[in-house]
Amino acid sequence: MTNPAEVLGLPKPAWAADEVGMLYDMATRFMAEEIAPRYDEFEKNEMVDRESWLKAGAAGLLCASMPEKYGGSGGTFAHESAIIEAIGHVGVDGFGIGLHNSIVAPYILHYGSEEQKEKWLPKLATGELIGAIAMTEPGAGSDLQGVKTRAEKDGNHYKINGSKTFITNGQLANLIIVVTKTDPEKGAKGTSLIVVETDEVEGFERGRNLDKIGLKANDTSELFFNDVRVPTSNLLGHEEGKGFVQLMQQLPQERLQIGTGAIAMIERALAITIDYVKERKAFGKAIIDFQNTQFKLAELKTEATIGRVFYNDCVARHIAGGLDPVTASMAKYWLSDLQGKVVDECLQLHGGYGYMNEYPIARMYRDARVQRIYGGTNEIMKLLIGRSL
Ligand SMILES: Cc1cc2nc3c(=O)[nH]c(=O)nc-3n(C[C@H](O)[C@H](O)[C@H](O)COP(=O)(O)OP(=O)(O)OC[C@H]3O[C@@H](n4cnc5c(N)ncnc54)[C@H](O)[C@@H]3O)c2cc1C
Repeated sequence: MTNPAEVLGLPKPAWAADEVGMLYDMATRFMAEEIAPRYDEFEKNEMVDRESWLKAGAAGLLCASMPEKYGGSGGTFAHESAIIEAIGHVGVDGFGIGLHNSIVAPYILHYGSEEQKEKWLPKLATGELIGAIAMTEPGAGSDLQGVKTRAEKDGNHYKINGSKTFITNGQLANLIIVVTKTDPEKGAKGTSLIVVETDEVEGFERGRNLDKIGLKANDTSELFFNDVRVPTSNLLGHEEGKGFVQLMQQLPQERLQIGTGAIAMIERALAITIDYVKERKAFGKAIIDFQNTQFKLAELKTEATIGRVFYNDCVARHIAGGLDPVTASMAKYWLSDLQGKVVDECLQLHGGYGYMNEYPIARMYRDARVQRIYGGTNEIMKLLIGRSL
């Protein structure tokens, strides 16, 4: 099958070594052949099926940046970026492997004991375990210090009680990193990350698979913990109370990967729209022949190019270990804002057809909106940037 990203003339990751370029090619083919043909069905079911996760694992698309000795491919964030760009370029943005790969697995790698890594990472790499991270609660979103989910020590177990909402991969996930309070008196310093293997516990319940305006193929859900008992060895890190620091340390990569999805969709939206305005005619000429169309697209293409250069620079810095949280916040906020703007303008250039769900730009319009909200809202990003001035 022809590589869909090549057909659209989309750029391969510019900073990519050959090996990353090859992974990108393989990932775009996988998304185009295995996920895209069934994507309407996945949107209707409000989740991608487990079999597709296992296939992604078999194809080497899970845990690409985890060490080989734990079942990964031994890559870097460049590899993860190539996979997320492939998802965005093919247009299957609801497939939640980006979060699994570059958010959940790194917590285990960075804070897990040797035993935890050996136990969980190989299964995350095959797709036998599907990962989620449960921070948000009905009463605590932007202000994570307000988390109420409680983990009480009871001998060699923790007893977890609380509820979470808006959790990506929430129906499928069987390995969930739960943000809990082990010592509510201590605020942020009483926060701990505890892994819940859902197949091995009682008292864990999945709530609604939430009805969203976009990202329909993702099973964003409510989760409930009622006296869920897990061994104390499921704590991430050597001691309690380190959860907030661990969250803060991982945020640059989490924010950058929202930027990855943004730049990929921006490029796809532009490519699709340029094709469309060359075909569609009004007043006896192609839509692209109107000066307004050319000026609009010239502006958007310029901004997309600036976005790509900024993004590539952030990735290069991140791989070298030097992406600071403020720049990562800039990438998250600015690229997701630009994504919203580009997709909206591209939809406008499609006229009424852009409002029809059968046109890809309509799905992008729905899927883009949440990028400004999750991973820390763009207002919170500006707050963090502002504090650094
Ligand atoms: C599709 C989807 C998937 C998600 N996936 C996950 C997931 O996997 N795991 C997870 O834990 N969470 C997830 N979330 C939750 C997401 O991270 C939160 O929705 C987000 O952090 C915002 O929190 P909130 O919804 O409680 O909004 P609120 O915190 O109530 O914010 C409401 C508004 O107030 C603004 N605001 C809040 N505080 C300030 C301030 N100090 N200054 C200025 N403005 C402020 C916000 O910017 C926002 O505009 C997901 C959400 C969605 C929609």
